[in-house]
Amino acid sequence: MAFFEARDVNLHFKDFHALRGISIQFERSDVLVVCGPSGSGKSTFIRAINRLAGSLSAGQILLGGQDIAAMPRRQLYRRIGMVFQRFNLFQHLSVLDNIALPQRRVLRRSRKDAAARAMELLARVGLESKASRYPAQLSGGQQQRVAICRALAMDPELLLFDEPTSALDPEMVGEVLQVMRELAASGMTMIVVTHEMGFARELATEVAFLDAGQLVEKAPPCEFFSQPKEARTRAFLNQIL
Ligand code: ADP
Ligand code: MG
Repeated sequence: MAFFEARDVNLHFKDFHALRGISIQFERSDVLVVCGPSGSGKSTFIRAINRLAGSLSAGQILLGGQDIAAMPRRQLYRRIGMVFQRFNLFQHLSVLDNIALPQRRVLRRSRKDAAARAMELLARVGLESKASRYPAQLSGGQQQRVAICRALAMDPELLLFDEPTSALDPEMVGEVLQVMRELAASGMTMIVVTHEMGFARELATEVAFLDAGQLVEKAPPCEFFSQPKEARTRAFLNQIL
């Protein structure tokens, strides 16, 4: 049994067939990078994993052999963390509270324990001094690092990233990628939708290419970049590299 398995995943938005028979599996501590043109279903795929895209019209997504469709929401949010392109921090809460609140709500941690864990994570991403600031007082790169801390505070088994650096000014991309690099090195299991092909080359266990809702090709990065098998993959790589 694989740690993660998508089995013939299909998803419709009314008549629109957004995910078309996606099957993929990987193991704990793997980093799956998902790429593909705009509108290919990358966000829908990772949103489907924590049930933010509605129900599947066919297929299953299994985490540790358990169907995510049958998991209580609380369990799902605890086991699978998500980092969004636009950070999605609570604007009216301090950095510390952004990280502490979900721990108290979902994990029922005490105020003290949640704050201690938040500070530990902030230290890890170099933002201890920003704990009492509000999101609007931080740069985009800093906000994204806080969003990563918020997700990590749940001690998730799987962390999903949807284009985590796409909304950032170029000079801030590196600081976020560095945090993700350290996470990968620490053994965190991740699915990362990104156009950062340098990151994919360096850290992906496998790279998956989606087009028009289909998984066109999936291979380890050395193979994916040097000898893509499918014409659609080659065309995509020629455009972005
Ligand atoms: P990507 O992240 O690869 O750019 P998305 O997963 O966001 O692509 O979208 C895949 C397709 O599904 C697009 O054609 C998009 O318009 C459509 N889509 C996404 N979300 C919805 C929705 N909530 N309702 C209807 N169509 C949607
Ligand atoms: Mg997207």
